[in-house]
Order: sequence, then structure tokens, then C-alpha cells
Amino acid sequence: MERLGIFGGTFAPPHMGHVRAAEAFLRAVNPAGCEDRLRLLVMPTATPPHKQKAAGDTPEDRLRMCRAAFGSLPDTEVSDYEIRQGGISYTVLTLEHFAAEERELWLLCGSDMFLTLDRWYRSEDILRLARIAGISRGTEEFRVLDRKRAEYEERTGKPVLLLRDEPFPLSSTEIRRRIGAGEDLCGLLPPGVIDIVRRDHLYESETIHEDYLS
Ligand code: ATP
Repeated sequence: MERLGIFGGTFAPPHMGHVRAAEAFLRAVNPAGCEDRLRLLVMPTATPPHKQKAAGDTPEDRLRMCRAAFGSLPDTEVSDYEIRQGGISYTVLTLEHFAAEERELWLLCGSDMFLTLDRWYRSEDILRLARIAGISRGTEEFRVLDRKRAEYEERTGKPVLLLRDEPFPLSSTEIRRRIGAGEDLCGLLPPGVIDIVRRDHLYESETIHEDYLS
């Protein structure tokens, strides 16, 4: 059985919390010596056209930054599928696109997404189509995540993977705030992403930053 993981997000920009999450997931699903290795697709979402300017980036910028951030991870590729589709990206539609006979789909979510997954568009179908993996962002207690894990397992009859790696509490919002304020990014973004952000002056305008927050 082929295994395919999807790690979706805005990635505006991709940061070390995202990279650590992907690494932790890959360590868990592809342990040393594992032969049928899961392939992870990092999937930046499309954004509605009116948001692109306000966001201080373009979908192509986010794709380039994702390639810089995740390009060196084993078993990982950056997919432009949702960006090519355009419009609002619904996870369930992406899962339906990648679903296939003899393929097990996985969905990797940080804790904020993990806890709200059951309110997403056609959440029942998401839970049916994919195995769920959740990872803490350090923003809530582990027992809250564990309770949700039990709830999803009861609903679907499928085991949910809750990663227990040390959280790396960070958000793209915080990164955009730091860029707007001219603060240091060292250790918070992969070096290749820092190069792109600096060279192309992404997220530097305060108004852009405020618009993204609203
Ligand atoms: P923003 O601050 O703009 O809302 P974000 O930092 O939450 O952005 P997203 O691109 O929305 O990043 O997140 C993509 C995925 O990565 C989501 O599943 C999210 O929960 C997860 N994620 C984001 N930051 C972390 C982190 N520090 N640790 C683990 N997972 C994370």
C-alpha cells in the first residue's frame, strides 16, 4: 500500500515550526529501515485574488519559499496543486483528488488545525479519506489534544497519530510582525527563506501586516 501525506497551509512564510513538524511526522511514519516510505506533499494553499496583494506575497513567492524550506527533507516534495486550482482551497477536495485505490492518505496538522478539524467543510469526509496526524504547537495542554484524538478515533474507528515531539511555538503571524518591526529572524526561518524574504522585501509593509491579521 502506497502512503501519501499532505501538509497544507498558507506558509506565509514557512518557518521552523513547520519544518520541525514535517520532520517529526516523517520520523514517526518512516522509521529507519522502513521500506514502503511515506511521501509527504507540502501543499501551500491558493488564496483568493483580492488577498494576494494584501498578504505581501504571491502564491509563487510562497511556493519558492516552501521549496527553500522543505527541499532538503527526505521523502518530501512541494506541490503546486492547490495554487494551480486557484480560489479557496478546501482540504476535502484536495484529498479527493489524491485519493486512489491502494493508497493511504495522511493529513498532518498543527494543534490549532487538529482541534478544529471537525468544523471544516465536509469534515466527516476528511476523517474518512485520511489518517490524521497532529502535532502540538505548544499553545495548549497535551491532554486537550489527547481528548480530541480519542474523539476522532471513536468517530472513525481509525487510529490517530498524536506526535509527542517537543513543540516549537512559532507562527507566520509572528514572523510577519518581526519583519515589519525589523527584528531578527535568525533560527526562526530556514536560511533559504530568510534570503528570499530579504531579497524580495516580502512582508515589510505595516499595512500589509495588519491586513493579514484581520
Ligand atoms: P499564520 O500565523 O499566518 O496563521 P501559521 O504559522 O499558523 O500561520 P499555517 O501556514 O497556517 O501557519 O500552518 C500550516 C500548518 O502548519 C497548520 O497545520 C498549522 O497548525 C501547522 N503549524 C504552524 N505552525 C506550527 C508550529 N509552530 N508547530 C507545529 N505545527 C505548526
